[in-house]
Amino acid sequence: MNSVCIMGGGLSGLMTGALLAKEGMRVTVLEKNAILGGGLQSFRRGDYHFDTGMHCFGGMGEDGQIRLICRYLGIEDRVETVPRCDTLMDTGSGLRLTLPFGPRAWVYRWSRAIGALLGKELEPGVRKQLKHYLETMYNLTCQEPLYHLRPTDDNYRMPDLTLSAKELIDSSIELPLLRSIMPYLSLFYAGREDSPAMLHSLISCSHINGTYTFKHGSLSFANLLADVIRQAGGEVHTSEEVTAVDIDGRQVVCVRTAKDTYTADAYISALPVTRLLELTPRSAFSPAFRNRISSAPLSYSAFSVFVGLQPRALCFNREAYYCANLASDPWNAASVAADKWPSLVFALPDEDLDNPGFAKTLTLICPMEYSAVERWADSTTGHRPDDYYRWKEQMIEKALKMIEPIGFEVPLQLAVAYADAGSPLTIRDYYGNSRGAMYGLHPSTRNPLQAHLSPNTRVGNLFLTGQDVNFHGLVGTSLTSVLTAESLVGQNVIVNKINARK
Ligand SMILES: Cc1cc2nc3c(=O)[nH]c(=O)nc-3n(C[C@H](O)[C@H](O)[C@H](O)COP(=O)(O)OP(=O)(O)OC[C@H]3O[C@@H](n4cnc5c(N)ncnc54)[C@H](O)[C@@H]3O)c2cc1C
Repeated sequence: MNSVCIMGGGLSGLMTGALLAKEGMRVTVLEKNAILGGGLQSFRRGDYHFDTGMHCFGGMGEDGQIRLICRYLGIEDRVETVPRCDTLMDTGSGLRLTLPFGPRAWVYRWSRAIGALLGKELEPGVRKQLKHYLETMYNLTCQEPLYHLRPTDDNYRMPDLTLSAKELIDSSIELPLLRSIMPYLSLFYAGREDSPAMLHSLISCSHINGTYTFKHGSLSFANLLADVIRQAGGEVHTSEEVTAVDIDGRQVVCVRTAKDTYTADAYISALPVTRLLELTPRSAFSPAFRNRISSAPLSYSAFSVFVGLQPRALCFNREAYYCANLASDPWNAASVAADKWPSLVFALPDEDLDNPGFAKTLTLICPMEYSAVERWADSTTGHRPDDYYRWKEQMIEKALKMIEPIGFEVPLQLAVAYADAGSPLTIRDYYGNSRGAMYGLHPSTRNPLQAHLSPNTRVGNLFLTGQDVNFHGLVGTSLTSVLTAESLVGQNVIVNKINARK
């Protein structure tokens, strides 16, 4: 196969495209939006710059997966990141805990942090539990060779997705405070009671190895990947929405957009899988497959608040804040009663380069179910009714109230110079995610295979990539892109080359 047409110019489309371009394929990427990147999109409001769907991620430490993939792509030196440390705040009790950054002496440093909070040294038994919990998580990640960029062999077995994150935490840790703290990263996998411990472990271990943000915004990463494709002679088109995929028997014949028709040797869908099914003839996939996808649970959605700050209103210490009410159920963060919403707000400040040491913007992400906006489901971007905007204002106020304990230099009302928000409808309409699902399909311990797809399809020259296929987020989606690219160029071909550059 020499040429490949990729539908969707989000993280997975660009990453898979860059990997295949590097392997000598002629790549064409078609993205519906005017701005490239999907979850990597950024936008500007006046002087303020915001990322929309990529805030904190792992994989950038020494030998981190993203660092190694970028080295292989030849862009490692151009990816600039800022390390972050996590600060957890309990809005109920006022407790504030800054968690240790990095994997070294994790148990010791956690024990010290929790001990300081409780005003006494942690008992050896509790430290033992922490150690066991950490080891269990690492052992679970070892079931997924791709996560460690290890070659797979024909004996590959699906990892255990039947143990839930809640069961893992409850069976490892007794101290109630620790039990309520451990799921604090659940926002990064839209955690519910049936979320697999494996997913929790992949995300937690990535963060334990070090959390980062893009120094120049997430769009800069999308542009770097697009550069790799273009430099290899490929094309990346924006404002080019795929409207149909023509399939004859078991072969894609062409992909149509409103403006053009594209043909290639192979085709990759980097779209939400629900969207691909809408674009293909019914006969292309079996009724069983369509039914499996249409009945699969979706991850919850989010309400994002974009805040521009007055100069010197908030100190910038490279912290990422998790403002949670620890007394509320962490596995129901999105579906709390309306008067209790939000029970969790992730708040990420970015530095003001004109006032070093102070923040310029704050982006807040709050778990939210799509049902909160369902009454406006028929509206489209820029054409929503007035009551939607009034509701949005109220939600912005509620989210801001939750972050007050972060500690502003002036009263919060004076600190905020600009505030706007995106709702689950925004996620639905910009990325094409069904019901605004943050991370696409929701993997559940109840039916682990339902949301675990293969990059290969029964249509011979059509492949799948993206967060629905395997894992989501910067690390998960990039690794899925490796998997998809190897479906075209050969098992372990890319993994081996990545490892050769270690
Ligand atoms: C609010 C929010 C916050 C997040 N925060 C983080 C975070 O901090 N860290 C992290 O690791 N992950 C985060 N994520 C998840 C991350 O954004 C996704 O896992 C990742 O972007 C998935 O990549 P993808 O390529 O599968 O999908 P996307 O990046 O969404 O790409 C899909 C692309 O397909 C395009 N498309 C759709 N339909 C068509 C069509 N018909 N024709 C052409 N193009 C089409 C879309 O416009 C989009 O560009 C967040 C997600 C959300 C929603």
